[in-house]
Amino acid sequence: MSSDTRPGTRASLEKPLDTLPEHGNLFVLSAPSGAGKTSLIKALVESDPSLCVSISHTTRARRPGERDGEHYHFVNAAAFDAMCGAGEFLEWAEVFGHRYGTSRGAVAAGLRRGDVILEIDWQGAKQVRAAWPRVVDIFVLPPRRAVLVERLRKRGQDPAEVIDLRAAQAAADMSHCAEFAQVVVNDDFEQAVRSLRRIVAATRAGERLPRQDHRTLVAALLGDSC
Ligand code: 5GP
Repeated sequence: MSSDTRPGTRASLEKPLDTLPEHGNLFVLSAPSGAGKTSLIKALVESDPSLCVSISHTTRARRPGERDGEHYHFVNAAAFDAMCGAGEFLEWAEVFGHRYGTSRGAVAAGLRRGDVILEIDWQGAKQVRAAWPRVVDIFVLPPRRAVLVERLRKRGQDPAEVIDLRAAQAAADMSHCAEFAQVVVNDDFEQAVRSLRRIVAATRAGERLPRQDHRTLVAALLGDSC
């Protein structure tokens, strides 16, 4: 990778984010793998037609059941590089050895129609936050670390070594939780969806909900006791 196409550098964020349309709200949802963020977003979006999920580009291989243009835009490294060099990504990052990026044009189009939610990792969230301070960034935590591995295994989509890699990365991901304006714990699924709906409703009303204090849980999740 040449130096000027690293995540967050000028070439990858060539056009300033303040050219994004003003109409909609931009949300970011991040979580360690297995925290259930895809299911949460699905439930949130199903009940809220004015909220759309941005479909990322990725160099990762398609999993069984994943469809191009629906779950991701699956592209090869050369196509990803070309988009990166042309400044087409709002943000991008390397996660678990693959690259993932959010198309600036798709987000801008979505924001003209309504609100947009990005399901991206903490590195991407950092880039969006730095350039677009009005973003509402949410981190989803599991109630216990063991739950992550259980969910990854149950999902049955990744080989054992990929699950191990993702589980090992979880603590590093969760250590970035404090950087996010909102934190939601996905213990009871319906309750977590309600919390997300409250955040969206408050944002639309021009309010910011107070951040819940999850320091004890985070300390436990980052320790060995979970
Ligand atoms: P997965 O391979 O399980 O679909 O996603 C792996 C990780 O990549 C997840 O943490 C997911 O949130 C993150 N991710 C997906 N799309 C993007 C993106 O466009 N940008 C960034 N920075 N991360 C992404």
